Amino acid sequence: MSQNDNLFKKIMRGEIPSAKVYEDEDVYAFKDIAPAAPTHILIIPKAPLDGLNELTDADALIAGKLLVTASKLAKELGLEAGGYRCVINTGEAAGQTVPHLHLHLLSGRDFRWPPG
Ligand code: AMP
Repeated sequence: MSQNDNLFKKIMRGEIPSAKVYEDEDVYAFKDIAPAAPTHILIIPKAPLDGLNELTDADALIAGKLLVTASKLAKELGLEAGGYRCVINTGEAAGQTVPHLHLHLLSGRDFRWPPG
């Protein structure tokens, strides 16, 4: 699947509907279609990055923006008190199913450590 055709690119182009939570010039955030927690938001860069493996020093700002966006959304949604977890699955064995960098923001239930 080419980078132009991946699912999240289609979501950002509006070709596949999504429940948008936040958007700016760098990132797009939307509700996960199969939530793994009461709050489950995906935060993705608009830049064509397949995943953490593709990041270089040139991507430091956008990589940081994913975390800053997670922090902002957690505050806006009142997730701080109950805690939340941020996850970036990288590679098939780690559970990555969509080849576009994405950060999962999960909250609203207890999480185990280490993750299964
Ligand atoms: P990962 O398994 O880390 O690659 O995460 C991909 C995520 O995308 C999964 O949690 C899926 O539930 C989610 N997902 C798949 N299709 C859609 C969609 N159309 N809208 C929103 N989330 C989706």
